[in-house]
Amino acid sequence: MDSCLFCKIASHELQSNVVTEDDSVIAFHDIHPQAPVHVLICPKKHIPTLNDVTADDAPVLAHMFDVAKKIAEQLGIAQKGYRTAFNVNADGGQVVFHLHLHVIGGRKLGPPAGL
Ligand code: 5GP
Ligand code: ZN
Repeated sequence: MDSCLFCKIASHELQSNVVTEDDSVIAFHDIHPQAPVHVLICPKKHIPTLNDVTADDAPVLAHMFDVAKKIAEQLGIAQKGYRTAFNVNADGGQVVFHLHLHVIGGRKLGPPAGL
């Protein structure tokens, strides 16, 4: 996807503050953090939304949660707690249409908006 912002970040065509990266995922700090820790974990493969995930994507989805857990440890928020979230489409507040898992923590979080 030539025009996709997160594909460009994943390929390093655009700069980001990378936390960790491997063959299948890249994790980087959100440019507008909602908390002291706000990291986005993306598959390198272009998948627009959670609705587009298929059974073939199960390994990368599982890996994204494993990476989230390790980042939480690395950034010191694992024990106090944090939130992971996928926003999906307009009502879910999705703005960038390349799948990404938010990892948010470092302060006491309120309930997710709308809950
Ligand atoms: P969404 O609302 O789609 O779930 O979340 C998109 C997130 O991407 C937002 O939290 C936004 O701040 C972040 N974001 C948008 N553009 C950029 C960018 O160019 N670089 C980085 N690091 N984060 C971005
Ligand atoms: Zn993309």
